[in-house]
Amino acid sequence: MVYNMGLEIEKEAWRNQQRYVSRYELSKQIKDIRQTYDWVEDCPFETVERHLFRLDNAFKKFFKGGGFPRFQSKKHSHSISFKQNFSIIANHYLKLPKLGAVKFFTSAEIFGEIKTVTVKKEATGYYACIMTDAIKSIQCPDENQVIGIDMGLKYFAVLSDGRFIENPKHFAKYERRLRIENRSLARKKKGGNNRKKQVRKVGLLHNKIKNLRSDFLHKQSTRIAKENHFVFVEDLNVVGMAKNKNLSKHILDSGWGAFRELLLYKTNVVAVNPKHTSQICSHCGHQDSESRKSQSEFICTSCGHAMNADHNAALNILSRGTAHVRERKAIA
Ligand SMILES: [Zn+2]
Repeated sequence: MVYNMGLEIEKEAWRNQQRYVSRYELSKQIKDIRQTYDWVEDCPFETVERHLFRLDNAFKKFFKGGGFPRFQSKKHSHSISFKQNFSIIANHYLKLPKLGAVKFFTSAEIFGEIKTVTVKKEATGYYACIMTDAIKSIQCPDENQVIGIDMGLKYFAVLSDGRFIENPKHFAKYERRLRIENRSLARKKKGGNNRKKQVRKVGLLHNKIKNLRSDFLHKQSTRIAKENHFVFVEDLNVVGMAKNKNLSKHILDSGWGAFRELLLYKTNVVAVNPKHTSQICSHCGHQDSESRKSQSEFICTSCGHAMNADHNAALNILSRGTAHVRERKAIA
């Protein structure tokens, strides 16, 4: 599919400008497309690169006098899609034509009517990508259902309704193991069978971390999006903050940026000004840096209101977001 998409772009450029789009430029364009369509995003980037590499080679042959590259059918890629004759039994067995029932593991509940099932072969095994029409059946919550989220380090996030989402710290847990396995890899002789095995082991570990993280972010963002019409977050430059060495590992690990992206396409996200959200009392509005006694403790120097500092910040984010929405409505 990526191959065909790339070819379409090439053909367009060839027809209109008689020029050839380089693999690098193509990769950039496809990245943009990836952001628009979920299913392309679901395709691992290495796969995208591999397809573009093949397409590039096909064009090099064409310039040497070969035929113009043709659109490819599915049989060339390592995936196969089913549009009918499949079923899912008890959330654990996938029944496919010719293959029969295959046991599979799913990280999320499958709901909605299944439209297509794509089975992909990757280095680490077989994966099934199940597309449903569930989006249509998700009910949009009432406009008054709103929530403020304070993203933190101690907790992944604290919600204005008082819920604390623990930071999973997947990476930290597996980091040690990854370090050990990597060290072992460095000791293995090049070209040997043991090295090959170890490369696979490290790859599997990376994959595990990636999957756990993505699963966590999807679950949290879906839950929040299902419950709320508006989600208010701080307008932080996550990328800028990630450049700060001490914070970077935690931020990238907890995936704030990815989390916000997910929220963005699942619900209405309003980014509010983050200034002093940790110093203002959510009860009386008094602002004082002294009110923040410690990382987790907030005691207002004016009214004595005491609560968890992150929860207090989440409440401030909520009231800023609410004011913002009201303002926007007044204009409209
Ligand atoms: Zn106060």
